[in-house]
Parts: sequence; C-alpha cells; structure tokens
Amino acid sequence: MRDKVILACTECKQRNYNTDKNKKNDPDRIEFMKYCPFCKKHTLHKETK
Ligand SMILES: [Zn+2]
Repeated sequence: MRDKVILACTECKQRNYNTDKNKKNDPDRIEFMKYCPFCKKHTLHKETK
C-alpha cells in the first residue's frame, strides 16, 4: 500500500526528496517543511508525481 512520492520545493521547484507514503493514511497530497539546498533554507515541500 505504500506509494513512492517525490517532494518538490514550492519556491524553486527543485525535487529534493524521495519518500513514500501510505495511501490509506495520506490520501491527499502531503506537505513537509524540509531544507532545500537550492534555497539554502527550510521551505515547504509538496508531493509531486
Ligand atoms: Zn528550493
């Protein structure tokens, strides 16, 4: 039931992180605050396909 997802920085659109999620627990797009090496700060990262 686990899906691989890519997390992309919402500011520079770089795809910085690969993760996975449980579709049952997270049916919607997930969002995390993570460090972006391109923005050099923590930014909101959203799931992308
Ligand atoms: Zn960024």
